[in-house]
Amino acid sequence: MIYVSTRDRSRQANAAQAVVQGISREGGLFAPLEIPSVSLAEIAAMTGMSYPERAAFILTPWLECFSGETVLRICRDAYTRFDTPAIAPVACLSGRRSVLELWHGPTLAFKDMALQLLPLLMSESARLTGETRDILILVATSGDTGKAALEGFRDRPGVKICVFYPENGVSEAQRLQMVTQEGGNVRAVAVKGNFDDAQTGVKQIFTDPARQKELAGYNAVFSSANSINLGRLLPQIAYYFSAYCDMISQGQAAIGDPFNITVPTGNFGSILAAHYAARMGLPVHRLICASNSNNVLSDFIRTGIYDRNRAFHLTTSPSMDILISSNLERLLFELADCDDSRVRELMDELKSTGRYALSDGERQKMQQLLWGGWANEDQVLSCIGDTFRQDRYLIDPHTAVAFCCADAYRRETGDGLPMLIASTASPFKFGRSVLRAIEDVPDAMDDFDCDERLSQLSGRALPDAIALLRKKPVLHTAVAEKDALWQAVLPLVKG
Ligand SMILES: *Cc1c(COP(=O)(O)O)cnc(C)c1O
Repeated sequence: MIYVSTRDRSRQANAAQAVVQGISREGGLFAPLEIPSVSLAEIAAMTGMSYPERAAFILTPWLECFSGETVLRICRDAYTRFDTPAIAPVACLSGRRSVLELWHGPTLAFKDMALQLLPLLMSESARLTGETRDILILVATSGDTGKAALEGFRDRPGVKICVFYPENGVSEAQRLQMVTQEGGNVRAVAVKGNFDDAQTGVKQIFTDPARQKELAGYNAVFSSANSINLGRLLPQIAYYFSAYCDMISQGQAAIGDPFNITVPTGNFGSILAAHYAARMGLPVHRLICASNSNNVLSDFIRTGIYDRNRAFHLTTSPSMDILISSNLERLLFELADCDDSRVRELMDELKSTGRYALSDGERQKMQQLLWGGWANEDQVLSCIGDTFRQDRYLIDPHTAVAFCCADAYRRETGDGLPMLIASTASPFKFGRSVLRAIEDVPDAMDDFDCDERLSQLSGRALPDAIALLRKKPVLHTAVAEKDALWQAVLPLVKG
């Protein structure tokens, strides 16, 4: 399979080249021109497979330059650090709702689904493309990608990784996870700015020829572990197929029955993977894109106008506090019938004015695929409390945003098809916010006390990854101005 840059179709790559590069050098993202297909008979056969086998089955046609055995081996090796053999189990709730729990990996958020696999894929890709230089991975994180990437790439030979997170924009557990990271090839840096500042800064470094040359002097090349990297996106397609198989096994749907999916969305990666799954043949009726108070996407889906000129809100779902959703560019490429000059035009407008408008035709196409909703902080809090009381089920604030939007979609459209809701983080990663939604929290309680109380209330064991955090020393204290990220990377490059 050939992937092309969304901003310049003459720049082509196979999967291995796209994974090693991370982003096309002129700033475009690698996107497919054609999508492989899966039949209902094949989906039926997948119900009898383990998660790694399902993932390998879905990934193989996207990774044509690898053998099927290699893909299966990578998938088997990737999913060994999860706390359940199901890897991504589905919980049945009242009201024909199924919850896809994507947070059973080592860092307690859905990013592990791709970032436990990406390092293996990257080594294999480097081998295949003959890349022998060191790979320097730069990551902008709204909280969860950072830790998952650090954990996935730590002490991997031939790789160094530097993560940038917004200084005041992540939860306490997220911050502690990153600043206590061990490993000889890792660095975590706080940025004086928000996630968009970090992401823009990192993209600028990637696409700056002077930086590329400087790095070549250290015998290294850039890559990315954000969902701009195709290797992040592809493993996420598999979990939607896996969830549908589980819904069938659990009697929530018969093979071929249509269903809806709600995805809590920030950088538009996970929902784009759901869209690719639908295009492969998963019988998805509608994708519901769920945003928090940073509701730039739900406005866009309703009006066709993308406008980031608005206040940036810090919410209880920090991993979705984003106003520039990178992966939307891959959807635009598709809406524009793979016209790279149209994507360039829209992205230039976004850069210069912070805004762009789709044509009527493009907007209508998008609205057939997507429904956009958003939830404010009060709605999120009541949803967490209600879900715990009604279903005895704990959800984190990101998942609660999705619950609210799934509900709103059903109310507004009357569509009662089975609903799969992606649950993206463990409630223990956001313990204080979750506990506050359930009962009064005295000021004297710290974040660990909150988690212990939640564990008591829910009967769910406190995950080791949280319990261990308490004892770990802080190893990373660097802080960078938002326009000086490169200086913060240099000690890692030189060291
Ligand atoms: C990253 C993240 C999201 C948003 O996912 P995107 O793929 O960036 O849209 C939602 N919830 C949690 C917990 C996350 O970590």
